[in-house]
Amino acid sequence: MKNIGFIGLGTMGGPMAQNILRKGYSVKGFDLSPDALERHREAGGTTAGSPKEAAEGVDVLITMLPDGPDVERAILGENGAIHGLESGSVVIDMSTIDPSYTQRIGKVLAERGIAMVDSPVGKTADHAIAGTLTLIVGGDRKDVDQVRPVLDCMGTDFFYCGKLGMGEAMKLANNFLANTILSATSEALVMGVKAGLSLETMMAVMRTTMAWNNQLGISLPKKALADDFSLGFMVRLAEKDHRLAIQMAKSLGVETPVGTAAFDVLKQASGNGLAGLDVSAVLRLREEQAGVKVRLAQ
Ligand code: NAD
Repeated sequence: MKNIGFIGLGTMGGPMAQNILRKGYSVKGFDLSPDALERHREAGGTTAGSPKEAAEGVDVLITMLPDGPDVERAILGENGAIHGLESGSVVIDMSTIDPSYTQRIGKVLAERGIAMVDSPVGKTADHAIAGTLTLIVGGDRKDVDQVRPVLDCMGTDFFYCGKLGMGEAMKLANNFLANTILSATSEALVMGVKAGLSLETMMAVMRTTMAWNNQLGISLPKKALADDFSLGFMVRLAEKDHRLAIQMAKSLGVETPVGTAAFDVLKQASGNGLAGLDVSAVLRLREEQAGVKVRLAQ
């Protein structure tokens, strides 16, 4: 398993492909952006002119693309990877997409004797560069075991979640909860500070109660509460993941009244010019509306 194809050399995919190259694999990359292809060549990779060409002669083909329709087009479309892949090869989709896309694409590939594994990633672009992503994996266990050495080039935390699509389902449920906790936490902090409490008092009390969470304990103190709204994890991507999670819940007949309200907050943040900031900018949205600032003493 030494020859890898890699489609989608963007913010995440570019450094992930470079980490595979560093471990001695050959990586043939494809992206719609000429700049991304140039960066991949400079890092020692080869490049292809289409998804089909990227897939020819490779053992493993990785996709790291924005959304489900992009993955479907790159794999099953005209000049798609399926037309270049050989039977016995494995596709790993690492994009965050709706699991129904994953399962549909996997079924078509299986008819040609090509296996598929889904491994969306957790954490941020900095972790993609460092090769320390969280790998959230679904697929047949034997296929997952086969590609594990390639996955290990990109991440350090590995979680096997079940059959094909379960990596995506896990990632969407996770981000849905993280975003929803962030929104509720922001509302509580702004409410308390506007009532006259200090942030330090609120945090000291909440640390001992059921209100405590990792947004409050880990993420917010490093970002918004320290007046830092740089990335991080972008509001625009959080909004996308939340949309996919609600879509998944709907298709399963699960109602999400609280999470749907949190989605409205993310949409509002995007609409108010915060789309490119860290997702903790949700706090800023509440602050601007209420006319207070919630910051830790420096
Ligand atoms: P990005 O927009 O930076 O990169 C996507 C790349 O895909 C671009 O270079 C684009 O030119 C290319 N592309 C788009 N359609 C294509 C096609 N049909 N064929 C070939 N190339 C195509 O996005 P990203 O931040 O790297 O995110 C990729 C995926 O990873 C998304 O699903 C995202 O939700 C997920 N993700 C991102 C982060 C993050 O912090 N950026 C973290 C975790 C997961």
